[in-house]
Amino acid sequence: MLLRVPSAMHDSEPDANSNFLRQFSDSEESSEHFSPTPAGYVRGRTRFVVVVGTVMSGLGKGIFASSLAKLMQDKGLTVAPMKLEGYLNIDSGTLNPYRHGEVFVLEDGLETDMDLGTYERILNQNLSRKNFITAGQIYTEILERERRGGYLGRDVQMIPHVTGVVKMRLRELAMAGPKGQQLDMVFVEVGGTAGDYENGFYIEALRELAFEEGDDSTCFVALTYILEPSILGEQKSKAAQLGMKRLMEAGIQPHIIACRAKNPVTPKVTQKISMFSNVPLKRVFSMHDRESIYVIPDAMRAAGLDREILSILGLHDRVNAGAEDSARSAWSAFARRLSAPRDHRVTIGISGKYASLRDAYASIDKAIEHCGVELSAEIDVRWLDTSDVHTKEGAAKLLEGADAIIVPGGFGSRGVEGKIHCAAHARTQRIPFLGICLGFQVAVIEYARNVLTLRDANSSEFDPTTSTVIISELPDQKRIEGIMGGTMRLGAQDVLVTPGSLASFLFANAKTVHERFRHRYEVDPAFIDRLEAGGLIFSGRHPKHPIMQMLELPVTAHPYFIGGQFHPELLSRPLKPHPMFMGLVAAAIAQREPTFAQTALGQRWVRSNASTVSPSNRS
Ligand code: GLN
Repeated sequence: MLLRVPSAMHDSEPDANSNFLRQFSDSEESSEHFSPTPAGYVRGRTRFVVVVGTVMSGLGKGIFASSLAKLMQDKGLTVAPMKLEGYLNIDSGTLNPYRHGEVFVLEDGLETDMDLGTYERILNQNLSRKNFITAGQIYTEILERERRGGYLGRDVQMIPHVTGVVKMRLRELAMAGPKGQQLDMVFVEVGGTAGDYENGFYIEALRELAFEEGDDSTCFVALTYILEPSILGEQKSKAAQLGMKRLMEAGIQPHIIACRAKNPVTPKVTQKISMFSNVPLKRVFSMHDRESIYVIPDAMRAAGLDREILSILGLHDRVNAGAEDSARSAWSAFARRLSAPRDHRVTIGISGKYASLRDAYASIDKAIEHCGVELSAEIDVRWLDTSDVHTKEGAAKLLEGADAIIVPGGFGSRGVEGKIHCAAHARTQRIPFLGICLGFQVAVIEYARNVLTLRDANSSEFDPTTSTVIISELPDQKRIEGIMGGTMRLGAQDVLVTPGSLASFLFANAKTVHERFRHRYEVDPAFIDRLEAGGLIFSGRHPKHPIMQMLELPVTAHPYFIGGQFHPELLSRPLKPHPMFMGLVAAAIAQREPTFAQTALGQRWVRSNASTVSPSNRS
């Protein structure tokens, strides 16, 4: 499609292209200064903070940028983040979580980089496809337009066309403020480091943007790294200086330099960096390692980083001091509780496939952390690889000492049999269990095999030849929801909650909840009645169609056994942990300390008769 050349393109397709081009004045379209802006956009009103890394990747640019954005949000300013990815993939959906970390799904179904999860959690704000650009998206847009004849005889160039689209996307995001107003600030995180081929056009676009938006419109923050080789025993700034030079060669003079380092950066080093980069000493900050990412906003504030940004961008008069006080105290209380000694102790086993890499399950890790703070529980998380588990006994051994079990999402058959044994272990041993997406499907397969004695029950994803396909790709349902063959059901959807269920208890009697999905297979409706007659409860359903979205065991049979076809971890926020994780951790605490159920938190999160009923002998 992309490469088809339309005949007589200028005459035959005036509509879409001329609409596109009508946004720009004639002089702009034909000049070298091709810099489109959305209708109604006022230049200079939105301020941009650009965070660029130097020296090396992995410095925590996302955490840095989101913490800074949070400080500004706390002051009552409207903010949005933008992540610029250098890779040619259109989204992160096809990336291997083992190499790139988890795929984070947004409300609108876009599959993004895990950094977007950090932004959502820290800003407590839902993001959309407006907040995420890849080089693949930019080039696709340009090449498709070129094939439609959208450039009217011009040669299409990196500058001004590619950079023009980047600027357009940044300005479109700036227009996405509440009630259609322009945002106060857009925080731009450039993927990679200064000097990479992949992000060069982004850096150039940002240079142009700063120029076009006018004085005081854009603040460039260089995040750099200060080496401290153990053989020397002192901090060295040369790599940081060279990194800065790379940025300056691209025409960017940083306004602020944030130095990542193991230890607080010494005055000698900050002075050198200041002097070699033309950045006043008061704008060179030490961003050394902290005990937790949640103390970074407070640390930035204590160092005066927020004030400097406000000064550089002339934003002091937009600050709402009252709003800042309350937001700040809520966050500081969270950070304090985070480092305070905990009242309870539990161990959670997570049966995954990428057990060796936490980033592959970053949101689950965070969701558990949020609950630990809320419930004052020290949670020992064990990442377990189920690839070598082939029996009940094997699962029991792997899960020894686990007070709760999570079977997380996943794709492909490796490790699945082991996960099924883990679900069986959780069910029969009455260990609190949470099945997520694949984990939900695994719980259904396990129940069908061991309780309904449908020994061949399986998902067509793992064994398409099995006689009992209980989890399958259902073309009818895909059609109902307008999902194209082969693609996944992605993004947020309503889930109808069965009144009186454990799910309803956890979600505070909500009739519907809104959760994010990323899956292709689901429970075959032909088995629903049999599963329910056998004791499994489907407590969350699609509002209209027989698509099962939550399952549970009756509270008389198991203290806490629940699963979701969606990904609850994507919605957990530091100050608002997800109910299904809260229920899991609370049930685990209650198993160890029965008196916990009587406390205020216990009453909220442990279902009342859960720990007092005798175990079932279903298996
Ligand atoms: N592989 C399963 C499916 O596609 C589960 C997906 C997931 O866990 N995200 O339905």
